[in-house]
Amino acid sequence: MRKKLIAANWKMYKTPEQTAVFFAHFLPMIAGHDRDEIAVFPPFIDLHTAIEATSGSEVAIGAQNVHWEKEGAFTGEISAPMLTALGVSHVIIGHSERRLYFNETDDTVNRKLEFALESALAPIVCVGEVLEEREAGLTEDVLRRQCTRAFNGISARKAAKLVIAYEPVWAIGTGRTATPQVAAEAHSVIRHEAGKAFGDEFAENLRILYGGSVKPENATALMSEEEIDGALVGGASLDPASFSKILRY
Ligand code: PEP
Repeated sequence: MRKKLIAANWKMYKTPEQTAVFFAHFLPMIAGHDRDEIAVFPPFIDLHTAIEATSGSEVAIGAQNVHWEKEGAFTGEISAPMLTALGVSHVIIGHSERRLYFNETDDTVNRKLEFALESALAPIVCVGEVLEEREAGLTEDVLRRQCTRAFNGISARKAAKLVIAYEPVWAIGTGRTATPQVAAEAHSVIRHEAGKAFGDEFAENLRILYGGSVKPENATALMSEEEIDGALVGGASLDPASFSKILRY
């Protein structure tokens, strides 16, 4: 039985003060919730506040991006050891907005994944097709390519903390959600690729989240699907009441 992970991607929203207010409201709403793992991914400048606010609670804190080197002349970047030194435990790698706006490629995803794992961060690697690819019947090809390249050169032992998020790009921030069946089909393609790279037992235990316009209204149907091991939630995670409702799927 895979424990579900419900993750909040705040994107470029909230100041440290707003982060503190969020957790002051959110933590009492989810007190004692141990059915699922919960992780929140605020902007870098909010990480310290988020870690202090959630200390001793059931919520883990992650970053939305990471560099593939330990340190160096990379202005504006943050490394995995810097994140772990702060108390960050998770990281999102290869979100479609980073692929689209910041030239993230399958190769940089692979390099980031390798170093994040070496640094003991739990990575959530995002994969998913754009609308034109789905309409052209290319979804499986895209998922296979993104997975094979992301996993390249990484051993099953090293990848133990890996989580994948299937995020069809046409469903992110659009209000359009993949049906549980459509998501489940994509998840089984991803699980198959993970099996080829890391072995069947690893694939069986791998958590694959769904992301794309998850809301309190559709969370129950999505989370009831056996292939869906949790959610990566954007817009609906910014409000404590809405995110906690999703957690009560
Ligand atoms: C996301 O940012 O990963 C996401 C799924 O966003 P939204 O829930 O707003 O579609």
